[in-house]
This record gives sequence, structure tokens and C-alpha cells, in this order.
Amino acid sequence: MPKAQETVLEIDLKALKHNFEYIKSKLQKDTKVLAVVKAFAYGSHAESIAGFLQDLDVDYFAVAYVSEGVALRDAGIVKPILVLHPQAVNFKTLIERCLEPSLYNAKILNEFIAVASEEQQTNYPVHIKFNTGLNRLGFWENDIDYIISKLKTTNSVFITSLFSHLAASEDLSEKEFTLQQIRNFKAIAENFSEKLGHQPMLHVCNTSGILNYPEAHLNMVRTGIGLYGFGNSEKENKNFIPVATLKSVISQIHHIEKGETVGYNRAYKSDAMVKTATIPIGHADGIGRQYGNGKGYVIINNKPAHIIGNVCMDMIMVDVTEIDCKEGDEVVIFGNHPYSASDFSKTAQTISYEIITAVSQRIKRVFLT
Ligand SMILES: *Cc1c(COP(=O)(O)O)cnc(C)c1O
Repeated sequence: MPKAQETVLEIDLKALKHNFEYIKSKLQKDTKVLAVVKAFAYGSHAESIAGFLQDLDVDYFAVAYVSEGVALRDAGIVKPILVLHPQAVNFKTLIERCLEPSLYNAKILNEFIAVASEEQQTNYPVHIKFNTGLNRLGFWENDIDYIISKLKTTNSVFITSLFSHLAASEDLSEKEFTLQQIRNFKAIAENFSEKLGHQPMLHVCNTSGILNYPEAHLNMVRTGIGLYGFGNSEKENKNFIPVATLKSVISQIHHIEKGETVGYNRAYKSDAMVKTATIPIGHADGIGRQYGNGKGYVIINNKPAHIIGNVCMDMIMVDVTEIDCKEGDEVVIFGNHPYSASDFSKTAQTISYEIITAVSQRIKRVFLT
């Protein structure tokens, strides 16, 4: 691996392939895989990740918003793309770019049918989302008759799939709740399909659902965090390889006398001689202020160096008193276990999802193939 000479996010496509194949190994042969590439493919690089997965024969993609789907189409992604949270204002664009909406309430269903009819669409593929306990987006079970009656008035849409989202699939102490969600979804899907007169695809599992509830894989699974290298448990994390490594360099080293302070608001006061290193990455790059003041640490020459004082917009200062290092040396903020984004995020009481999606767009992406 090349040594970093500036702050970079390295994206390891071999790791992505490994994670994809590991997830596939958990599935029946005919279970389809939908790759979730929302939020710049969890902070990495959506177009490259999707292009690579398309070549590996993934079945479907999902993004959160229409603009994210448009970016994938512009980059030559031709597989179906589910838009999880579309807004009506973008429906014309969605249709122009052959993106498939998730329809989750009466308002969005009616708005979509209106635009699809206006655009003279017939059998336009759409996905109906049911709420089974997350209470975020989705029709309720007692909306089924309404949806069916609405569908009888038009041939502009075709129901490609029915889906739901699990609230606590990674938390085995919530197993009873999750099993109840799965049972509810299966019952809803059966009732709905019978009234609809055809059988749409069914999907309910995210990454932790795939790992913890093999009986719920149904026709397709939706994996996000697993593709990027996290299994949401100590045990499963070992089976994945983090795709993204965030690296930087030491810009400057200072020797600080006892009693001096470091950084804004003089938040760090030294009680002995300390050696500090200044690193060109800050809260504008995604390292939030909650990592400052001794919580988070970076890795320099295989040793942890804690962030001292407040995180600045473009820089952090770390304690390298005990580390043999010099200006220009490489710094790893997170990468592979045991210095993964999951480990790093724990130092500020958050989760891998948050730190990896926070890596700012100004950081250069470098691909390892
Ligand atoms: C983001 C998202 C996923 C992916 O979840 P992971 O835990 O990252 O695998 C799946 N389904 C829906 C509806 C989502 O919003």
C-alpha cells in the first residue's frame, strides 16, 4: 500500500469483493442481493462501488434520494435502482432516469400515480413499504385495502416488491421483537399479494438481518454496512474487511513545555513536557468535536496517539510523547481491525455508520484494486 502524503480515503475493492462474497455465502442460491449505496456508498464513493458491484452481478441497488440515483445513472449504472425515500418534487426526474420509488404512504402513492399517468407510463415498477415496528416510513397493515383500491383505478404502476425494515436486527436481546416484525411482514405480504393477484418480490433484511435471521432472507436482501466491512458484532466483524482506510500525515511536531496549552480555547494544559503532532484533518473532514480532548486516537507507527484539546476545522493535534515519529510520517485514523471505524467510533460513543458516512467530500478517494 502506498504511504499517504496527504489526507486520503483509501478504498480497497478487493475487500469489497470479499465482503460481497461473504454475504452471498450466507444466502440461498436464488436469493437476490440489493446493494445499498446511499450517502456516497456509506461515505466511500458511490459510482465506483456500484460499478464494481454491477460487474460482480449484484441484482439491485438502493439509494435514499433521487439525486443519488441520477449520479449512478450518469456513471453508467444500468441495474435497477430503488429510491428508498423519494420526494414528489423529483418524480419526473425519477421516471426519466428509470429509478424505482419506494411508496410508503397514501400521499406519496397518489402523487406518484398522478405523475406516472401524466407521463403516460404503464406498469412503471414501484415498491410498497410497510411499517412493522420501526415507525419511520411505511404503510400500516390496515392500509392494504386502500392501496389495492387505488391500484385498481390505474395501470400506470406495477408492484415489483413489498418490503419492510427491521428496527433492531443487530440486537439479539430484541430477538422476540424482530421475529414478530418478520411474522407481521410475512402476513401482510401474503394478504396483499392475494388481493393484488400477483406475487411481488419480498425483502426485509438489512446486513444484521442477513446474519441473524436466515429464515427471513425471502426473495432479496438489502445489504449496506456489511459490504463496507462491518458485521455489527465483535464476532461478525472478524468475517468482514473494512473497505475504507482514512489516512493522513504529520504536518508538524511541537515540544510543549509544562504549563503551556494546545489548541483553541486552551482546552489542553500540559502538566509535563509533551510532544505533539499536528495532522491535516478536522471536523470539516468528519472528525467531530466529540473525538477531541483525549477521547479519540489515531495510529502512528503502530501506536495510538490521542487527540488533545479541541478538534479544529482542518486539523487535530495528537500526543506523540511516547512515539518515535517525525514530520511527514503516515497517520491512520481508521482502517482495519483493531483500528477500524467501528473501534474509532466507540471512543466517542457512536457507531461505524456515523464516522464512515461523515468523511467529507474534500478528502481525496484513492482506489486499491
Ligand atoms: C440503509 C438501509 C439498509 C441498509 O442497512 P445496513 O444495516 O447498512 O445493511 C437497508 N434497508 C433500508 C430501508 C435502509 O434504509
